[in-house]
Amino acid sequence: MEPMMELKNVGFSYHSVAGETPALSNIDLVVQKGDFLAVVGPSGCGKSTLLSLLAGLLEPERGSIFLSGKKMTRAGAGAIGYMLQHDHLFEWRTIEKNVLLGLEIQDKLTPEARERVFDMLKAYGLYKFRKAKPSQLSGGMRQRAALIRTLALSPELLLLDEPFSALDYQTRLTVGDDIGKIIRKEGKTAVLVTHDLSEAISLSSRVLILSRRPATVKRVIPIGFPMEKSALERRNCPEFSDYFNEIWKELDENE
Ligand code: ADP
Ligand code: MG
Repeated sequence: MEPMMELKNVGFSYHSVAGETPALSNIDLVVQKGDFLAVVGPSGCGKSTLLSLLAGLLEPERGSIFLSGKKMTRAGAGAIGYMLQHDHLFEWRTIEKNVLLGLEIQDKLTPEARERVFDMLKAYGLYKFRKAKPSQLSGGMRQRAALIRTLALSPELLLLDEPFSALDYQTRLTVGDDIGKIIRKEGKTAVLVTHDLSEAISLSSRVLILSRRPATVKRVIPIGFPMEKSALERRNCPEFSDYFNEIWKELDENE
């Protein structure tokens, strides 16, 4: 089967008057359809840079990125949904108008598309709040709204950059669990950047460990929990701590 996304020997540096900051080096990576890849690595190693390249927001300096077998272009990046750390909801728009925004801009707001988005609002407990402004919602609700806005465009590939980092621990567990369910239920492919190892292990099917900057692929660890287990259930499985220790050790050797 053709991989959804493939990176071949990708390298990237930032250039400024102060000089060159190499961020990524020799990245080889394959993301298959239905994969949920978690990306972990030391702070400042190049995780967000990698995600920006996958999103088509940055172009690789060396090497190439292929999306469904074709060389990645900005236009091709339309099949990709990108959710940043900050939820970027517009405060003056209602939740309904926020989640429909992408469809509106892309001129895809058909009655069917609207209904599908309303179904997601219902399923994720936001329908009652559709006329509310983002400031009236809790952090967890806002993040769910941001995710629905991203899913509304039916992206084949979801890129999430520390999407839960603004949430308190309790909410983070619940929203993480929800989002894991949503992504599995909708059959999406996802790449999640996180600095929370437990989150990476409980949500993903593989954990990519990056080295210190410039990031190289240190290891990819397959996570073998049964599909039907929720993120919260996975945290209580006996293998969970084995995965945790293995990844922890790998990261520790970076320091
Ligand atoms: P991470 O997400 O892993 O914390 P980033 O990918 O954001 O790391 O950044 C990797 C490195 O590139 C860091 O040293 C950061 O300071 C640098 N960097 C990030 N964005 C820019 C930029 N726009 N210009 C110059 N340097 C940058
Ligand atoms: Mg980052």
